Amino acid sequence: MDKRIETYMELAIQEAKKAGKMDEVPIGAIIVLEDKVIAAAHNLRESSQNAVAHAELLAIEKACGKLGTWRLEEAELYVTLEPCPMCSGAILLSRIKKVFYGAPDPKAGCAGTLMNLLEDERFNHQCEVVSGVLEESCSHLLTDFFREIRKRRKAEKQQRNRDESETGATVDMGLTNESL
Ligand SMILES: [Zn+2]
Repeated sequence: MDKRIETYMELAIQEAKKAGKMDEVPIGAIIVLEDKVIAAAHNLRESSQNAVAHAELLAIEKACGKLGTWRLEEAELYVTLEPCPMCSGAILLSRIKKVFYGAPDPKAGCAGTLMNLLEDERFNHQCEVVSGVLEESCSHLLTDFFREIRKRRKAEKQQRNRDESETGATVDMGLTNESL
């Protein structure tokens, strides 16, 4: 694959890692225009408690703000995970030219997996899609993140069980003292 494409996806991966450090699902996106990065963003759904705070949407907002226009006609968007229906909609509405994504999303992907909103000719704009860019690295980000969460939850549960059994022991002792 084109080195240039991989270099930009690497930047999207860096963004995704920032999300991961904040305990957000690690998804990152960047927007490139005339070979310059004009916006970078990562998923912020948990910290903002905002259902629409997806990486692509935040990057599109930044790019529009920076250029002072809603038309991103010549822009390319690089994102680590296949866009969901909401983000695919925003990509079409902002008229982004081309989307490159890493990992497919079997639960929400609307750029080829569940459906392909971006290349549907019934819409008044189509956006070219390139899938599987650094797919393995992008998928690993997610699988590692969820494995880590499961591990942490398990450890917390074990700790809780330990705490409970210790508390239980204290109560038992209390009862014994009382009955004496
Ligand atoms: Zn989305």
